[in-house]
Amino acid sequence: MTRIAENLIAIHRRMAAASRAAGREPNTVLVAVSKTQPEAAVRAALAAGQKIFGENRVQEAEAKFAALRAEGASLELHLIGPLQTNKAEEAVRLFDVIETLDRPKLAEALAKAVRKTRCAPRFLIEVNIGNEPQKAGVAPADFPAFLDFCRRDCGLDIKGLMCIPPQGEEPEKYFRQLAALAAPHALSALSMGMSADFEIAIRCGATHVRIGTALFGERKK
Ligand SMILES: *Cc1c(COP(=O)(O)O)cnc(C)c1O
Repeated sequence: MTRIAENLIAIHRRMAAASRAAGREPNTVLVAVSKTQPEAAVRAALAAGQKIFGENRVQEAEAKFAALRAEGASLELHLIGPLQTNKAEEAVRLFDVIETLDRPKLAEALAKAVRKTRCAPRFLIEVNIGNEPQKAGVAPADFPAFLDFCRRDCGLDIKGLMCIPPQGEEPEKYFRQLAALAAPHALSALSMGMSADFEIAIRCGATHVRIGTALFGERKK
């Protein structure tokens, strides 16, 4: 068995245990974050049964997954990094889920790309849950109006929310805030939790955890 296959089993065990401890069904989805990892690592994960992958750059994802898709591999691709408006069309063609919708200009560009390509990815809104000046994401205070804009004015299929809590702080409070933001708006997906904190995120209601290092090992800088 490959190291990646072993890691995958260990992660699923930990996810199931976290769900049990929280009294939840063990149905949290694992998004395998393969950014900077070679195609061979993705192939190893696929061979071990992993089908859902996250990438943070459009170009890198295209290069890595084009051959696999052409071979007919059944997989689902999530964009988890910032998206420029001029790449909206490429992004809707390539990704099944775009997790980083975070500003009106991007919502407009994505709506236009959806109309043009007839590709219909699902969208998550990225929330800057710690109100950090340098970080992407819509501010929590602006979120309700932005959600309205995305749904009503742009007609986008918004399924849920995504966040990355401030580094070096206890994440639980932020995970709970994200869940509370989603609750009144019929948003069923909560993408939160990474290698270091996915069990806490599951306790707080994560439906998707995004795990890179714990599955693939350290990333090259
Ligand atoms: C890199 C990345 C991850 C995975 O981080 P790990 O700590 O390696 O699990 C998850 N989410 C986003 C948005 C990322 O950029």
